[in-house]
Amino acid sequence: MDSSPPQGRLTVITGPSGVGKGTLVARLLQRHPDLWLSVSATTRAPRAGEVDGQHYVFLSRQDFEGRIAEGGFLEWASFAGHLYGTPRGPVEEHLAQGQPVLLEIELEGARQVRRSYPAAFQLLIKPPSFAELERRIRSRGTDGEEAIRKRLERARVELAAEAEFDAVLVNADLETAVDALERIVGLAVTTPPAP
Ligand code: 5GP
Repeated sequence: MDSSPPQGRLTVITGPSGVGKGTLVARLLQRHPDLWLSVSATTRAPRAGEVDGQHYVFLSRQDFEGRIAEGGFLEWASFAGHLYGTPRGPVEEHLAQGQPVLLEIELEGARQVRRSYPAAFQLLIKPPSFAELERRIRSRGTDGEEAIRKRLERARVELAAEAEFDAVLVNADLETAVDALERIVGLAVTTPPAP
């Protein structure tokens, strides 16, 4: 008999910057408040409206590197000139409590999680086209030209890694994509057939 404690399911959501991962995940959490989304740490500066401890934990590079040295991250990566990482403790605690956990991270981090949690479900979110992705990144108006260039360069690498993922979702229309995400993550409530 298996007497090990219940483990929540770990789902990794990856996709290029500007693809709308954040919005999709926020909508999924509205529908499923039982899901727990990990709050990452980053060395990038907060964008307007971002709250420390809620959207990210904003750290200096020195503090971030200290946490790396302590083994405090489940995974971490450098992205467009900044460091991003998933604090290990809270993820392990939520999984141990049997709660489903979501990570919204870039490709290098997803690859690290694939090694430490091979059973995690890995989803790639794609834009309808590269031109549309570029339009979305530019219209966000938060990044300078150099940051946009780096993000687009990384986007090509992430999209080329499609075959590594368990599922791929094209984010063309938000509502359709949220429904699909719900099904893929295994949370869609199926209505029983009428008697
Ligand atoms: P942004 O600066 O646009 O918030 O995020 C840039 C990229 O970093 C996005 O692709 C986002 O998914 C990724 N990211 C956010 N948090 C983490 C993390 O903890 N680890 C890794 N590896 N990537 C992250």
